[in-house]
Amino acid sequence: MEKNKKTSYKQSLAYTIRAIKLLYKAFPQFVVSLLAYQTWNALTPYIGIYFSAQIIAELTGAKDPKRLELLVLLALGAAAAASLITALLKKWYSTHEAGFWYYKTGRIFAGKMLDMDFANLDRTETSDALNTILQNQNNAGWGLTRIKMNMDTACSAIGTILGGIVLSVSLFATRVPESAGAYTVLNNPIFAVLMVAIMLLITYISQELYHKVAKYWAENADAHRLGNRLFSFWGFLGFKTEMAADMRMYSQEKMCERFTGDKTGVFNSNGIFAKYSRGKGGFLTIASAAVAVVYVGIVYGFVCLKAWAGAFGLGAVTQYIAAITQTTSGISSIFSVVSDTRNNAVFLQQVFDFLDMPNEMYQGSLTVEKRRDRKYEVEFRDVSFKYPGSRTYALSHVNMKFEIGKRMAVVGMNGSGKTTFIKLLCRLYDPTEGEILLNGIDIRKYNYAEYMMIFSVVFQDFSLFALTLAKNVAAGEIYDRARVLDCLDKAGFSDRLNSLPDGIDTYLYKDYNKDGINVSGGEAQKIAIARTLYKDAPFIILDEPTAALDPIAEAEIYEKFNEIVGDKTAIYISHRLSSCKFCDEILVFDEGAVIQQGSHEALVADHGGKYYELWQAKAQYYTA
Ligand code: ADP
Repeated sequence: MEKNKKTSYKQSLAYTIRAIKLLYKAFPQFVVSLLAYQTWNALTPYIGIYFSAQIIAELTGAKDPKRLELLVLLALGAAAAASLITALLKKWYSTHEAGFWYYKTGRIFAGKMLDMDFANLDRTETSDALNTILQNQNNAGWGLTRIKMNMDTACSAIGTILGGIVLSVSLFATRVPESAGAYTVLNNPIFAVLMVAIMLLITYISQELYHKVAKYWAENADAHRLGNRLFSFWGFLGFKTEMAADMRMYSQEKMCERFTGDKTGVFNSNGIFAKYSRGKGGFLTIASAAVAVVYVGIVYGFVCLKAWAGAFGLGAVTQYIAAITQTTSGISSIFSVVSDTRNNAVFLQQVFDFLDMPNEMYQGSLTVEKRRDRKYEVEFRDVSFKYPGSRTYALSHVNMKFEIGKRMAVVGMNGSGKTTFIKLLCRLYDPTEGEILLNGIDIRKYNYAEYMMIFSVVFQDFSLFALTLAKNVAAGEIYDRARVLDCLDKAGFSDRLNSLPDGIDTYLYKDYNKDGINVSGGEAQKIAIARTLYKDAPFIILDEPTAALDPIAEAEIYEKFNEIVGDKTAIYISHRLSSCKFCDEILVFDEGAVIQQGSHEALVADHGGKYYELWQAKAQYYTA
């Protein structure tokens, strides 16, 4: 047990140090400005304490008006200078602190999500891990946010302690005069040691009591999370206009009452947290505060006795009492940081388990040869594939070769494996069996980023950003305006573009710009196509648009696309046979296998084949 406790202390410290390093690496200015601001901010009260003490000493002592005037001026000047520095440091810190809870920590997790093997995104463990981390963070500030909170507290506490020590050293150094008789015992250095020892002991006890309360909350984080989730759904149901009709129709608000009105609900008056606060938790909190007050009493006693015995005057009394009380609160904060660090370990472990999730996909190093003639040959050799965690094959024994510069269609009913085929081609997943070759070499051996450069895909569920049209097309901040215009023109967006006063500088959507435009599904498709053209990759792929296009609109987009892809190798995917009949080669997918391959004419002529069957059944309108 003792050993476990020690390792857990060590572990907590290791996690904390790692988290601070992680934050420093990601946001160095944030960490430095935090240190500077919090420490300085903790030191500034001592300026006031010091000058007040000097002024009181003068008033109760020599009462020299010249010296008093000087002290007051110095006090005011120092306070003004300190406020100015505080304001500057605060500005610096708050600039870098902005958005820490959501945006900054979010960037760390989003970076991991973007870096991890694509296959891991499908795993429920991944989304569960991320959700748990975010919920712990948002509910009670556990995890990385607690590191920030503790850094704030620790820096401030260290500043407070240092300042307090400087101002209270002379309490022990100033001697009671021999004329005070028995009181000279107070000059014994043992009193200094005793005062420090009692301070440490009492603050420790006070914090240990408080730690128990904090631990209760940490141990019940699951209940807390659940409570928050229930509350954020049921508590705001009345605001959800999209549900308003159903709510009225079926009086569903009665269901909400169970979650918001029930006294035993997590946060309600008979919930576990309320009960704990009324009982043991409340007692511990009071005990913790009461113990701390005992020490303040001891300090008053000691300082007043020394003053009584003539060691120092009234001014010094205010200084010592203020300095020691401040120091005690600093030490108490340090203990609370230690306690929090212990409680936070389990939440940081979740953070690091997530960030350390390994990438298992082999990352090759071969460079993809840059060919001016765009002669890249891709071959699927007996490729089979199961999605992670799935027992059935989404693709089985697929063999095919792309002919350079040709148009190829991939057709088949929904769920037959077309999109999976493209995802394997782009190496979002690796085949479970078989291999995919680029110019005769297994694609796993190539540098992944370079391999991706030869493909340009309009995915079925493509997404555009609430940025300018130009940035969406160029997928970057820096772009060639003429090329953006040319690509939008080729994608058939010119008419709409001409009606926009800001042209390619028009924002999409209204999220960040009130003059932003909303685009229809078909228009969004055109912008996505322009983005594909801008990338100018040798392979260009158009996955069936989901944007509720009717079969005729889809066929038009496909044929238009075909005109503009030029000498590239193009692949079209659709469950509507009519959209792709112009292609040189058609692959017919059925239940994960390629069951037919050939030109439209050849496939239609094969009356026993699936393609003929689908074609006859006017499968172009098939949507099941
Ligand atoms: P299509 O593009 O022809 O509509 P898909 O390639 O999307 O078909 O799907 C092929 C099969 O793989 C389907 O049975 C589908 O349910 C399954 N599948 C698709 N995506 C996933 C996934 N991420 N995880 C598990 N199974 C999936």
